[in-house]
Amino acid sequence: MRADLHCHTTASDGTLSPAQLVRLAKDKGLKAVGITDHDTVNGVPEALEAGGHLGIEIVPGLELNTDFEGVEVHILGYYPDMQAQALQEALARMRDARLSRVRAMLEKLTQLGLEVREERVLEIAGEGSVGRPHVAQALQEQGYAKDTGDAFDRYIGPGRPAYVSRYKLTPEQGVGLITAAGGIAVLAHPGLVGRDEIIPRLLQTGLKGIEVFHTNHNPAMEGKYAGMACQLGLIMTGGSDYHGPGRKEGIHLGDRTVPLTVIRELRELKEKMR
Ligand code: AMP
Ligand code: ZN
Ligand code: FE
Ligand code: FE
Repeated sequence: MRADLHCHTTASDGTLSPAQLVRLAKDKGLKAVGITDHDTVNGVPEALEAGGHLGIEIVPGLELNTDFEGVEVHILGYYPDMQAQALQEALARMRDARLSRVRAMLEKLTQLGLEVREERVLEIAGEGSVGRPHVAQALQEQGYAKDTGDAFDRYIGPGRPAYVSRYKLTPEQGVGLITAAGGIAVLAHPGLVGRDEIIPRLLQTGLKGIEVFHTNHNPAMEGKYAGMACQLGLIMTGGSDYHGPGRKEGIHLGDRTVPLTVIRELRELKEKMR
């Protein structure tokens, strides 16, 4: 029995609704899934409801996109108190920042002679927190890019002509926010980030785990981060970072999993923090 602790839904830039994701988890024989949407916990209630019906354990969470010297550092947070006021306020601020950022990017695209309508981008995003993958899809629909990667390479990736940065927390603030909300903070896919020097600093603000197993980690990275987690007494988590059909092709739900004992460790740690 295994758990995939890193999944996105339509609450952010995934393409499956939380209920659809949980259904798929059931079909794939998973026992548990972590709901870790970017900068939001809004997909969690629907997932909990579906999980209750289907007998799939839901690990409530989120993935905060933070900034360290211009590099994106993602912090996973498991079992946060979703009503915590500081968390809610920070998430609302990030949601606003995402919207104004997309508007600024669309303005730049217009200046480049590319017509992408804001209404369409928001329609693609639906209920979810709007992000560059939604802009990428709109660019693709208009024939300006052949796929998401192409849209990032040409227009909206860092350093590209329509790129706009947005307000982000620092990794320390992200870890602190999750911890203050009673959640378990875990450094997401460190192999993708390549800035291990932040780990000691994050320990001081409450980091409890490292995402050792991830679809973009090779065996050498897994070995390295497993060793680090062991040495520092951190929980080793893992997941696929599945985004649903049509996003991040080639990555499937359940491509990386951990045993259910990891969920027990997360819960025990949460109890201890009370
Ligand atoms: P945002 O949160 O709006 O800045 O968008 C970031 C998200 O875009 C990431 O979490 C990825 O899912 C996706 N992304 C980033 N870079 C690329 C890329 N080069 N190709 C495809 N998707 C990307
Ligand atoms: Zn994403
Ligand atoms: Fe991430
Ligand atoms: Fe992710």
